[in-house]
Amino acid sequence: MDIFGIKALLICALIFIPFENLFAERPQKIFRQGLAVDLIYVLFNSFIIKAAVVMMAASILGVAAILVPQSITQAVGGQPIWLQVAEIILITDAGVYWTHRAFHKIPALWKFHAVHHGIKELDWLGAFHSHPIDIIVTKAISLTPIFFLGFSEASIAVFSLIYFWHTMLVHSNMRITFGPLKWLIASPQFHRWHHANQREAYDKNFAGQLPFLDVMFGTYNATGNKVPEKYGVDDPVPSTYFGQIGYPLLPRGQLSNPAAPSTEADA
Ligand SMILES: [Zn+2]
Ligand SMILES: [Zn+2]
Repeated sequence: MDIFGIKALLICALIFIPFENLFAERPQKIFRQGLAVDLIYVLFNSFIIKAAVVMMAASILGVAAILVPQSITQAVGGQPIWLQVAEIILITDAGVYWTHRAFHKIPALWKFHAVHHGIKELDWLGAFHSHPIDIIVTKAISLTPIFFLGFSEASIAVFSLIYFWHTMLVHSNMRITFGPLKWLIASPQFHRWHHANQREAYDKNFAGQLPFLDVMFGTYNATGNKVPEKYGVDDPVPSTYFGQIGYPLLPRGQLSNPAAPSTEADA
């Protein structure tokens, strides 16, 4: 059983490394800055998050069995798989959008999310570089309606696979924009303008998969084909894994930074 996701990681590396070389948005070494820390994130986060989601799903399904009428769960779970998957993407990404926006807006939450924004050399592995609390809270909020409403196991499995690959794709160092579909499907170009450490990118492009949510809620950053000058944050995020895990829990005085991209004016 691949509980740490090592086999999955090797398969992803075999696919993303050659494609990032072929379609590189900017020159970047495979053995880049922060690679070792990202690999620790893959191994540890994968295990912690899987365990948290399994416990969360079991408890939500238990509550749903009592509270939600069977007529609703049977109607939802009985729809065609493709329709259930489309609905799951829409519901979860609305949850991701607002949770992500809260992580930027609320200073106590930003400390956790600053860890993800601390990535200086962005590539597919950046998808895993997040504080576990950030991911677990986001998944708890975005997945609760899915377990509650009775979507089928098969549709949740298909969605999980799509989400897994999509989140690596949007973090990848590839010059891909998706042309006219750029409003519908998040591209690397869309998400890199969330990670750019430039004022025009602060508090923009919160959606995980569906950019039209940012258009609807006024946070879309249409930067064309411009390439960010730099990634990262001005916050003093440590460079080691355990330093980053402990960072949001340190005394506030060591954390506040007026340059953090989370101000009323930026939202
Ligand atoms: Zn963010
Ligand atoms: Zn990201």
